[in-house]
Formats: sequence, C-alpha cells, structure tokens
Amino acid sequence: MNCQGLLRRNHLRNTVAAMSDAASDSLFSALASIVGDKRVSMLSRDLRVYSRDMWPRLLIRRRHGGAIEHLPHAVVWPTSTREVASIVRMARKLKMAVIPYGGGSGVCGGTVPLRGGITIDLKRMDAIESISREELTVDVQAGANGERFERALRTKGYTLGHFPSSIYCSTVGGWLACRAAGQLSTKYGKIEDRVVGLTFVTGRGDVIQTDELARARRGPDWTQLIVGSEGTLGIITSARLRVSPAPEITILRGFSFPDLKTGTEAIRKVMQRGLRPAVVRLYDEVDTFINHVSVFESHSDEAIATDGLCPWPARGAGALPNISDSPSTEKEEMSALQSVSRIGRSWGKRLKETVTATALAHPKIVNSTFGTLANSVSDSGCKMIVGLEGTRLRTEVESQLVFAGMERAGGFRRGRGTRTEMAGSQIRGIL
Ligand SMILES: Cc1cc2nc3c(=O)[nH]c(=O)nc-3n(C[C@H](O)[C@H](O)[C@H](O)COP(=O)(O)OP(=O)(O)OC[C@H]3O[C@@H](n4cnc5c(N)ncnc54)[C@H](O)[C@@H]3O)c2cc1C
Repeated sequence: MNCQGLLRRNHLRNTVAAMSDAASDSLFSALASIVGDKRVSMLSRDLRVYSRDMWPRLLIRRRHGGAIEHLPHAVVWPTSTREVASIVRMARKLKMAVIPYGGGSGVCGGTVPLRGGITIDLKRMDAIESISREELTVDVQAGANGERFERALRTKGYTLGHFPSSIYCSTVGGWLACRAAGQLSTKYGKIEDRVVGLTFVTGRGDVIQTDELARARRGPDWTQLIVGSEGTLGIITSARLRVSPAPEITILRGFSFPDLKTGTEAIRKVMQRGLRPAVVRLYDEVDTFINHVSVFESHSDEAIATDGLCPWPARGAGALPNISDSPSTEKEEMSALQSVSRIGRSWGKRLKETVTATALAHPKIVNSTFGTLANSVSDSGCKMIVGLEGTRLRTEVESQLVFAGMERAGGFRRGRGTRTEMAGSQIRGIL
C-alpha cells in the first residue's frame, strides 16, 4: 500500500468502522476508476466536512460538543454527467446510498449521510454552457456557485433574478433541489419559475433531459417533479434557466409600520393593484428590535476603519458587492455600510445568538415576549424594505405608485437608496 493508502486507512479506522479495509480499498479503486484518484477522498477530514449542512439543530449540537453520528464512506467530485451516471450505477451495484451535494448551505439536513454512502459534490461542474439571446435562457451546470454565476451573467447583460441570502454559498443544483426562493422573487419568481428544463441522473444511472416544448408535452411535468425533490429522485447535473435583461436601475426605500398586521395589509394592497416591486421585506417586531439595537451600539473608530474596507458597489455595478481596498467616499453609502457592519457586534450579536438558541426551543414564547418588548423598548414598530428594478422609466413610475401605496396604507418613509445590493443584511443597513 502506498503512503496515501496508509494515510487514508489510518484516518478511516476511527470513522467508517463499518467498512472493512479491503472493502474501503475496493470502493476507493472503483471510484478512482471513474473520476481519477485525485477526485475521490476517504480521508477523515473530508468525510467530516461532508457530514452536515447548515441544519441549525445539528450545528448547535456540534457546537456543544455533540459527536458526529453520520459520515459518508467516500466523497467524489465528478466533472461530467457521464461520470455522475457511472458513480450512481456503481453505487447501485454495491447497494450504497448516494448523496448529491451542492454548497452544503441547506437548512434541513438533506445532505447528512444517514446511511453513509457516497457523497457526490457537484461543484466541479460549474460551467455556463450557453446563453440564448433569442430565447433568453442560459444552460448552466448544476454545481455553479450562485454568486459567481450571477456575476458572470451580469457581464453579459443578464440577470437570473434569483438572490437567496445564501447566494454566495449555494449552487444552482441546490436551488433547484430545494425549490429555493430569493430576495427578488416577487418580481422574477422563485427558482421553479425560472427553470425551463433539466438534465438529471436517475437512481438507475440513466440520464434524462426534461427540456421539452411545454405545450406539446404529454404526461407529467418531469421538470417540476424533480424541482424540490431534495435529491431523492435524481441528481441534477445541468439546467436551462430563464434570464432577464440586467436592470438599468434599482430603487430602494425603507418604511416603518406601527405593527406587522398593518405592514402585511400594505403589501397586500400594493400587490393587488398589480404593482410588482422586486423586493418587499417586512421585519417583525423581534427582527426590527434586534437591528435597532445593533445600529446604536459600537460607534468606535475601529469599526469605521474596518467598514471602509468593504464599500458598497458603485451604482449600476451589478447586484453583488465588489470588495476592494479603496474606501467609499459617499457619506450616505458609508453610513449605510456602518449600520450593516455593526449588526452582529457587541451585545446586538450576543442578543441575536441568545434569541436564536432560545427561539429554537420555545418559538411562540419568544415571539410574543419580544413582540411586546420590541414595541415598547425600541418604539420602532416593524421596518420594511421595498425595492424595484428594471428599465429606468418603468421602474421610476412604478416605484412612485408603490411608495405612495405604502404611505396610504399606514407606512412612514424612512430612507432611500438607488443601489443594487440585495443581500438581506445589507438591505437592513438602509433602514
Ligand atoms: C445563511 C443562509 C441563507 C439562506 N437563504 C435562503 C433563501 O433566501 N432562500 C432559500 O430558498 N433558501 C435559503 N437558504 C437555504 C439553502 O441555502 C438553500 O436551500 C439552497 O438552495 C441550498 O443549495 P446548496 O447548493 O447549498 O444545496 P445543498 O445544501 O448542498 O443541498 C441541499 C439539498 O439538495 C440536494 N442537492 C444538492 N445539489 C443537488 C443536485 N445537483 N441534484 C439533486 N439534488 C441536489 C442535497 O442532497 C440536499 O438534499 C439559506 C441558507 C443559509 C445557510
């Protein structure tokens, strides 16, 4: 046995005890024969990484010293649909589970290898294969990282319009498998509205393409069957998605409402008039209170100096921030950024952690307690962010109608901006 084999075997002794040395060697060789030995791992440190996603209960348990209960037997990084199909066929022969893995940002424990098995990480399949200017569609591989994908589309003048808060750490395949929604789904639709067709590998290792002419189709809609199936019906290896022209302008406005009910009613009224803001985000009393606290603490020089390292993107630069060394000069941009950066510091952060941990155990009590507390202590009711984007003229007109509608329904204007950053925590900075 070579050095790598020994290292692997030593690591494995404590982790995948159920598999004999001979069986693990043979599994390694079988996988390496498909993807090459650099793209398969049975090292303990790798298996531990792939033992979880962002499921809060599991994360909290681990933080409190809980043992790792479930490990995959192996992790592989295929680069093509053909390789994925071969791995699945091989796993089927061995009667082993396969676990498709995107960014690992899922919050439901979907990638936890309950029966061990082979975790198939699709991140090496991240190419944009083609863009159709006529159809306004893009063909992209399932492992594409969300943020990089959106940035690449922007350079070509398009947007997918899908901005989950996890965009920086999730993949196209993960979005589809989870039926994800994003910050701008009010305008662009959720991921199921953006998908035209899929290529996926079934549990038998067959490759199926679902890109059909919708009206000519008979029988079940395979695309929508696979979307949201969390990897249980097949492994998505690529997708055809609808794109939209990149927006010429984005207009954001902050409002506050006396309570959640008034805010919700306001949203209903605006939407029922046929107006379509890209984002309407209403924070309940707890969230409003916590962010209110965060904004008023930590005014140190050190905080401001650190903030300057991560300026807001230039107007019209795209939906995602650029990180450079040059500090932003605009006063408004800096103050918005400072508010954002302060979230998570000092006792605002500790409060957030406490609330999160307690809320998981007693959500109803915490909500009602903080609902009352927030109103009386912060006196800020519920905050809302409203944003519109698209072509300049249409967006300017529609935004006036939306903002007027919010005011008529009991909202007070709080702040404004015309930037294109849509990440949830950064939106809060505008309020
Ligand atoms: C901070 C944070 C913010 C979030 N914000 C949002 C949000 O705004 N909107 C939202 O909808 N969700 C959100 N989520 C949840 C999560 O990011 C999404 O569900 C995301 O779509 C998961 O993508 P992923 O690539 O990380 O998938 P993973 O976590 O790797 O996998 C998720 C599930 O999909 C399966 N899967 C992954 N790839 C494939 C594939 N190619 N084929 C078949 N099955 C596959 C996995 O087996 C697993 O069951 C958030 C999570 C975090 C941690």
